[in-house]
Amino acid sequence: MTNAENARPALRQPPTAYRSRVGDIEIVAANDGMVRVPMKDGFVRGVTAAEVGEALAESGLPREILTITFTPIVVRTGGETVLVDTGYGASGPPTAGFLLENLAAGGVRPEDVTKVVISHFHGDHINGLLTKDGALVYPNAEILVPAPEWDFWTSQDRKAQAPDAMKAAFDNVARVLGPMKDRLTHYKWDQEVAPGMIALDANGHTPGHTAFAISSDGESFVFISDTTNHPALFVRNPDWSPSFDIDPDAARRTKRRILDMVVTDDLPVGGFHFPFPALGKIARDGERYRYLPAQWMAVV
Ligand SMILES: [Zn+2]
Repeated sequence: MTNAENARPALRQPPTAYRSRVGDIEIVAANDGMVRVPMKDGFVRGVTAAEVGEALAESGLPREILTITFTPIVVRTGGETVLVDTGYGASGPPTAGFLLENLAAGGVRPEDVTKVVISHFHGDHINGLLTKDGALVYPNAEILVPAPEWDFWTSQDRKAQAPDAMKAAFDNVARVLGPMKDRLTHYKWDQEVAPGMIALDANGHTPGHTAFAISSDGESFVFISDTTNHPALFVRNPDWSPSFDIDPDAARRTKRRILDMVVTDDLPVGGFHFPFPALGKIARDGERYRYLPAQWMAVV
């Protein structure tokens, strides 16, 4: 943030959510907030900050600060109210932690949530499971986590081998998920985690990172989670890998595979770090791709 921005009072958005449909399933997109990241060499592996700035400018964004937003979705399917990822909740930057009020605007109360399905264990996806005092935010929900993700982040060997910069992420997983470990359900890829909702292998960003195919009544939608971070950078340049992809080569292969699938099958997508309401389509552009944000609809 620049000094001029800090000197101005912040303008908070009014609480809001965005509702859409996949066949008979309702999707409610609700934002938890954002973080501003000053661009430095190394944010994208092997790419200079100037090159990243150029890509941001091509999308009309500031060259030197990347805004990363957090948008979980609620999937209303077969009598279940399924929250996919939680945002930072009370344990994140001051520009995040707005999910509950935005969910309320979308007609979803925490006690209504019957399942929380976690895509992977980064803090922006799990921290919102807990209040500041460590109580469960979604008291009635079954909490489902990817089995390979659990195996990775709870391995003391993996933690010992990890670079120092990653150790805090291991500690955060232990803090958030450790106390609730006996009530977690471990799911596998290709398994149905809720009616019409299949977990897809999207490994690379993290070892257990998962996307979700949601289908009903002949329509399908793919929530790609963190398969790509901001589309202006990583949809546009599918071989770019942010420094926080744990296995960049696997992440690139996954990204190519999933983007190719949604383009070939002409499927709408949602992305956790896409600009709100984080829904749209992907178009092929030679060896690259473009993100086409969805039309905002007053009535669906
Ligand atoms: Zn993320």
